[in-house]
Amino acid sequence: MTRVVRTRAELREALAGAPRPVGLVPTMGWLHEGHRALMRHAREENATTVVTIFVNPRQFNVTTDFTQYPRNEAKDLGIAEAEGVDLVWAPPVEEVYPPGFDTVVAVGAVARPLEGAARPGHFDGVATVVAILFSLVGAEHAYFGQKDAQQVMVIRQMARDLAIGTEVVALPTIREADGLALSSRNVHLTADERAAAPVLRRALLTARERWADGERDAERLRGAMRETLATEPLADVEYVSVADGTTLAELARVDGPALASLAVRFGATRLIDNEILA
Ligand code: AMP
Repeated sequence: MTRVVRTRAELREALAGAPRPVGLVPTMGWLHEGHRALMRHAREENATTVVTIFVNPRQFNVTTDFTQYPRNEAKDLGIAEAEGVDLVWAPPVEEVYPPGFDTVVAVGAVARPLEGAARPGHFDGVATVVAILFSLVGAEHAYFGQKDAQQVMVIRQMARDLAIGTEVVALPTIREADGLALSSRNVHLTADERAAAPVLRRALLTARERWADGERDAERLRGAMRETLATEPLADVEYVSVADGTTLAELARVDGPALASLAVRFGATRLIDNEILA
């Protein structure tokens, strides 16, 4: 049976006697196969699995994106139950940010480019809420998706710098059959936009092929991605990046591990995806 708790106090009480190790899966709900894969890994590697469901207002730089974020707690709890999750923390906003809350966790260089530049304040919100979750849950392991590659790097930096003992585990991106990465935001795509969206994956695979064939000029790899994206009139490109795999600084040449990533809008819906070149 999955136990659902709402307050910080209930969460602490539920965890007090829980078998170790504890695995944590932070989510914003509207759970899909990507989240389920994280839950399954957590269950395999831990004696207790904790899922949090919290649409974090502080990580949305656009208010309508927050208010329109899809929510269905009853369905999410059914999924958590089916995955054998032991504990779900689904708090109201004031349990995460009580009155008087006045701290921001701001990660440095790795949080600045890409999503950090496109969504000002986003990673401050992410790092702050994940620091709270790590502190409250005290898990041995926490599971995140590689789909949000920069997020994983930001959270690793935060946990290392704040001496939080939770090990950050990144798991592969789960995709639809046509290559589109699963995302809660996909629900907002119109039928035409949904049909166009796999172009993200095609662009990244083009870059991967060129790289595998020996192309090391990062601008040519970006160009190849832009060319593929340009074949799709509904794709409104926000950024195309080939960056250093450790620092996320844009590269001129790919001489070591790199991250190819992109952000593309389809109408009102913004999608991201990435591919490791290593
Ligand atoms: P979200 O609910 O979108 O904040 O995502 C919660 C966690 O699930 C994050 O660590 C995401 O990176 C991860 N996630 C989201 N989509 C996918 C996916 N398609 N495959 C794997 N993990 C994912």
